[in-house]
This record gives sequence, C-alpha cells and structure tokens, in this order.
Amino acid sequence: MSARPPITIVGAGLVGSLLATLLAQRGFVVQVFEKRPDPRTHGFLGGRSINLSLVERGLAPLRLAGLADAVLATTVTMAGRMVHAPGGGTNLQRYGINAAEVDHSVGRGDLNMLLLDAAERAGARLHFDASLASADFANGTITLADHAGTRRTHQPGLLVGCDGAGSALRAALAAQTDLGERTDALGHGYKELAIPARPDGGFALEPNALHIWPRGNYMCIALPNTAGNFTVTLFLPGTGAYPSFATLPDAAAAQRLFTEQFADALALMPTFHADWDAHPVGQLATLYLDRWNLDGRAVLLGDAAHAVVPFHGQGMNAGFEDAAALATLLAAQPGDPGAVFGEFSRQRKPNADAIAAMSIANYHEMSDSVADPHYLLQRELAAALTARVPEHFMARYRMVSFTALPYATCVARDREQTRFMDRILRGRTTLAGIDLDAVAARARRELPPLPRAV
Ligand SMILES: Cc1cc2nc3c(=O)[nH]c(=O)nc-3n(C[C@H](O)[C@H](O)[C@H](O)COP(=O)(O)OP(=O)(O)OC[C@H]3O[C@@H](n4cnc5c(N)ncnc54)[C@H](O)[C@@H]3O)c2cc1C
Repeated sequence: MSARPPITIVGAGLVGSLLATLLAQRGFVVQVFEKRPDPRTHGFLGGRSINLSLVERGLAPLRLAGLADAVLATTVTMAGRMVHAPGGGTNLQRYGINAAEVDHSVGRGDLNMLLLDAAERAGARLHFDASLASADFANGTITLADHAGTRRTHQPGLLVGCDGAGSALRAALAAQTDLGERTDALGHGYKELAIPARPDGGFALEPNALHIWPRGNYMCIALPNTAGNFTVTLFLPGTGAYPSFATLPDAAAAQRLFTEQFADALALMPTFHADWDAHPVGQLATLYLDRWNLDGRAVLLGDAAHAVVPFHGQGMNAGFEDAAALATLLAAQPGDPGAVFGEFSRQRKPNADAIAAMSIANYHEMSDSVADPHYLLQRELAAALTARVPEHFMARYRMVSFTALPYATCVARDREQTRFMDRILRGRTTLAGIDLDAVAARARRELPPLPRAV
C-alpha cells in the first residue's frame, strides 16, 4: 500500500460519516470533526427533513461500504406517488416497472447514527462538539471550537469539507481563491408537520407510497416512517399572493389553507397547531461553485459543494455518489491529492449541475404536472414505449432513481426522449388511434440504445 496522507473530514452528517467509513476501510487514517454533540448519546438534533428518499444511486455507495442491508432494514418502501386530488380522490403513479424499482423512506437521524457507528468500526476517529472556526492554509492548521468557545488547533493533512450547505470550510476556501460561488434562491420555503400513527400503531395513509397533494405552484407531501407516522412537508412561495408563507401569519391562518386545500390530510393531523408553531420555515436554494478544491490541500463534497432543492429527492443520494467517487480515486492515487481532487471535480461537477437542473424541473412536475392532462398523456406513451422497447426508452425518474447512469446522461437522454414524444403527441389529447407498435419501431430507429450502466 503506497503512503497515504492523513485525512480530516469536517462534518459528520450523512456524507461525512459515509466518506469516513469508505476511507478508513481503504487504509487511510481519518479524523472527523462535527459541530453538534454526538447524536448517539445526546439525541439527534437534525432539525430538518426527518425522513429522506433513498434510491439505488445512494444504495450503491452504501453497498460499497457493506452497509446497504443494514440501512434497508430501517426503511419503508415507496412504490410510487399517491396523488391526492382537491376533491379527495387518490391515484397511485408507480415509479418503476417492477417490484425492485422502488424508493426507500429512511429516517435521517437513524441513518446518521448507523453511519457514525460504521465509521468508528472502520477505524475513523470522531470528535463531536468541534466546529471548524478557521483554516490557516499557509501553516497547514485548522482551528476548532466547542460550544463554550474553547479553541484548539489541529494539523489536518488533507482537508475534506462535508459540512453542508452553510459550509465553514467553503467560506475558508473562498478567502483563499475565487470558487465562483452562486446561490439561487427558489423563492419557496417549506414547513414540516406530522401525521401520527393510528392509536393501534398502524399507518393512517397507504404506507408504501410518497403522498402528494399538488395544488399548482404549491404542494404538500408525506413520507412514511417505520414507526407508523408520516413526516408531512408543505412547500409554498415565501412571499406574494395567498397562499404564501407571508400570507399565513399564524397556525389558525395555516389551518384555513389546509381546510380549503388539504382537508383529508388535516383530518389526520391532531398536532397541527403545535407543529406549525414549533417548526421554522426552511429556505430552499441551489448552490453552484466553479471550483470545489484548493489544489491538493482541500476539497468540498455533498451539500457543501452543490446543495440542490429537494424535489428529486437526490441531495443525499448525490452526496453518497460523491463519497464513493472520492474514496475510490484517493485509494487509487493516494500520493497525488491535487490530481485526485481535480479529477473528482471533473467527474462530479457536470453531474451536480445536471441534478440541480432536474431538481428544479421536478418541483414543477410534482406540484403542477402530476395533475396535468398533457403530462399524463406523456406518461401513458412513456409506459407504452417502456413495455415495447425498454432498451431504447426509459423515463427520466427511472434513470435517475434506479440506475447508475450519470445525472448528466439522464438529462441529455430525457431531452431526446421528450422531443421524440412531442413529435408523436403533437395536436393529440389521447393515445386512441395511435399505432403504438409503429411508434415503438420508430423509437428503435430514432432513439439510440440506452447506455450500459442501466
Ligand atoms: C426538506 C428537505 C428534504 C430533503 N429530502 C431529500 C431526499 O428525499 N433524498 C435525498 O437524497 N436528499 C434529500 N434532501 C437533501 C439532503 O438532506 C442533503 O443533500 C444531505 O443532508 C447532504 O448531506 P451532507 O452530509 O452533505 O450535509 P448535512 O446533512 O447538512 O451535514 C453537514 C454536517 O456538518 C456539520 N457541520 C456544519 N458546520 C460545521 C462546522 N463548522 N464544523 C463541523 N461540522 C459542521 C453539521 O452539523 C452536519 O452534521 C432533502 C433536503 C431538505 C432540506
């Protein structure tokens, strides 16, 4: 094994703890510094998005770390989107074409704690209540502070920033070099609410689905937890005409909106007022950087490098892919971190940009299009093509969630397929009268076979 530099990871969230595991498993000496107290002894202070959608793209890096089965044992399967119409009717839109193509709802706290245990088992040293306060790149030291403000210095070796969207390491790097940083606010925020388990412990809604109440430019969603409860998230414009967060000054006003628009959900939310008052409005934005590293000294990944809006459920999944890519590259070339960090950015940045764009597009799809007749007609044609020519046609959601195709490939392929469907559907409101076998033969001629990473 060639000489491996010591590695310091800032942030023991989802990405930092998986990366620590993967690097320690590859023979690196790894230390991790986390701002918060240890959630395994102090309770999880996550504060946002209690559960997350995990898909194949995030499972593959967990498999690499030997953790996929342990994580899957803590999840609830979601076979598709259960769309709740304003009148109360429901319609399940399946994500995949077989029982294996499903999303998994995973609790953020449980997952984080499982990953911390794994990192320690692999040999990484974890330090809690240790927040990165500053970095001195000239002298190769960083300063860490505990909650009381007591400071200590540390020689980090290679510095890896997994400290999330508000990354302190990113700020320290930006003081050294122009990272080309840009943040685009979506203008929409979110508020987390809850549907508890029924008194007998059962689920109050169909458990194996991601529930959506699409209402134009706003929506509610609910994801199941293994304990029988659902985490509900309301997404709404921050300002502007009703309904926006600015037009809902208190829980009573919010309850009026729910009575009008989400009555079936509200009926299952006995703690609505308390949840509304207890949870702040979270802000949503996309972070873009031109550069993720300072030569061979420091690199950023996960939300610290490319936070996205959550509408494709991919931020964590993308961060896990980052962790696997960086650990693999470093293990292959441990003596040249400058080359590794450069190659890592070259591989991952186009894909980060692609998932950022798809995540914004999916907001419109989820809040609006899932109830739109043209979108539903496209879905019908897509299903017909998937059944007839699966090697030439795959819906975008399936490419993103159930394959390892790079995100950038998914975007390019989706564009090509959408143009093809537009040619077939021009001027139509139904598939009646279309010779679907002839369309499939045309797809075989006009759409090249899907790449092999499917
Ligand atoms: C509402 C919402 C829903 C989401 N849903 C999904 C989903 O369904 N699927 C999905 O894949 N993704 C989802 N995401 C995205 C996902 O939460 C993030 O992409 C993921 O948490 C990123 O992991 P990370 O480790 O990079 O950052 P974080 O999870 O933010 O972890 C960063 C860690 O760094 C620590 N830290 C911060 N500053 C310092 C410091 N100065 N020093 C030391 N430590 C520090 C923090 O305490 C934290 O532990 C969602 C996000 C939101 C907001």
